[in-house]
Amino acid sequence: MISAQRSIRHFLLVIAGIVFCASSAHAGWETVRHKGQDYVTARSIKTFYGFKSMKVNGRFLELENAVVKMKFTISGQEVFMNNVMFVFSFKILRHQGRYLVSRIDLGKLVDPVLRPSYIPGSTPFQTVIIDPGHGGKDSGAVNRYGLEKNYNLVVARMLKKDLEARRFKVIMTRDSDRFLSLAERVKFANRFANAIFISIHFNSGGSGGGSRAEGIETFTLSPAGVAHYGRGVRPDDFQLRKGNAQDSANIALATAVHGTCLLKSGRPDRGIRRARFSVLTGIKHPAILLEGGFMSHSHEARLIADERYQKTISRSIADAIVKYRLATTRRLGQQ
Ligand SMILES: [Zn+2]
Repeated sequence: MISAQRSIRHFLLVIAGIVFCASSAHAGWETVRHKGQDYVTARSIKTFYGFKSMKVNGRFLELENAVVKMKFTISGQEVFMNNVMFVFSFKILRHQGRYLVSRIDLGKLVDPVLRPSYIPGSTPFQTVIIDPGHGGKDSGAVNRYGLEKNYNLVVARMLKKDLEARRFKVIMTRDSDRFLSLAERVKFANRFANAIFISIHFNSGGSGGGSRAEGIETFTLSPAGVAHYGRGVRPDDFQLRKGNAQDSANIALATAVHGTCLLKSGRPDRGIRRARFSVLTGIKHPAILLEGGFMSHSHEARLIADERYQKTISRSIADAIVKYRLATTRRLGQQ
């Protein structure tokens, strides 16, 4: 759809650093504690980020200014920023006449996406570590065209070339069909400095979707207090993991890669999701895990086996990494 594409493009401009001015007055946040969680009111989000309008439209609460339109699903977790879907960790609540957004989602998701140049401790990076998922005895997903481990490697090799053409240094966790444990991948990646980490996978099944599930989804590490994808919060979800030092960078990187892959591939959006996969928990670098389509879906299975689609995914990731670097290192707008 053209209009959706245009707004995703628009959104990526935001990511590239053309960020509207947040209110410099630092209007006090209106906070509410509800059932053990801290929330902020939508009204104070509107003020802080300088949104011009806030209105309820059907099941959505919409905040909008000249650059970005945010749609919060009332009593739901799905939030759209210029039509890119994010799955929040907590529901948007309507409580005593006010709309509430959890403080974790605001701080760990909304803010780093809207203001990537404010990511704490973001340092320029020159190295991209590519992690082709699975390998050797671990085939990953399988369909009648091939094995996930092979597709992951093919796309990773394309990405290596695309990134080298953009003058990045590239490291691969594997460059052959060999088995590597998740812990080995993490240990290897953490030997390098000033890097980001991209794990490449293709999906299968899908929660409840079976063979009908399709589209692209991107995982980043759950912040402390946020559940692993697909289950409720457990006590050890409150423990900080090594990767949580990069919470803000993780979501900004995920947004850039996810949005660009959607834009260029035209595949359905399954959202940016939170998980505690072990390749994400132990990595010291900004890290994401991309699922570039469903091997279990009849149409996507053919696409994934097609070199043109593989190149589209590879080039999208490379372009997104360039945008992400610009967004995190350049300070436009206010100081
Ligand atoms: Zn996989």
